[in-house]
Amino acid sequence: MNSKPTFSDEIANMIHAGHGSPLSACIQCGTCSATCPSAPFMKHTPRRLIALINANYKEEVLASDTYWYCASCYHCTVRCPKDIDIAGLMYGLKRYSMWKSAYQEGLVGPVFSEAFVKMIFGSGRSFEPVLATTYLFSLDIKEFIGEIQTATGLMLKGRLPILPARIKRLKNFKRMIGRIIPVGGLE
Ligand code: SF4
Ligand code: SF4
Repeated sequence: MNSKPTFSDEIANMIHAGHGSPLSACIQCGTCSATCPSAPFMKHTPRRLIALINANYKEEVLASDTYWYCASCYHCTVRCPKDIDIAGLMYGLKRYSMWKSAYQEGLVGPVFSEAFVKMIFGSGRSFEPVLATTYLFSLDIKEFIGEIQTATGLMLKGRLPILPARIKRLKNFKRMIGRIIPVGGLE
């Protein structure tokens, strides 16, 4: 009889093709958390997040900011004694929470990621002035003015584009992207 996969099964399936051991191999040694530069800012440390996944605490994991604060430095991955790709897991959890539209409100990461994917899918190029609007309004007034001054300086020196660009053969590019990521609803 077929039974519905548990949350930990879903995550295991998602990262199956990646590098390293499954999360079930975790011995909760805490090396990943101790080496993580972002851990002090995370709701759950990487070690704790893995324990929550293995115990099927789906809601807690989806409500966590841990993977959105991950800086992708890979310190944890190269130091894990069980060869678990924790950094790869963080990427996977970002994708999973975006697909499920289930993430903590008020985080810049999901809004930024969605804007980035839409932009790349629509033009094949990144256009920083539009991307910046996804986080500029979360800054205080002093930081906001500082960012605007920096952007203006970069534009005047030709280091930041004033108008968005488009790649050639955009249709082919969209077809290729559509094969590797679920972009339903973006066209
Ligand atoms: S370093 Fe590896 S084994 Fe240790 S807690 Fe982190 S994931 Fe688990
Ligand atoms: S890759 Fe992410 S989770 Fe791992 S140590 Fe770096 S910031 Fe922490």
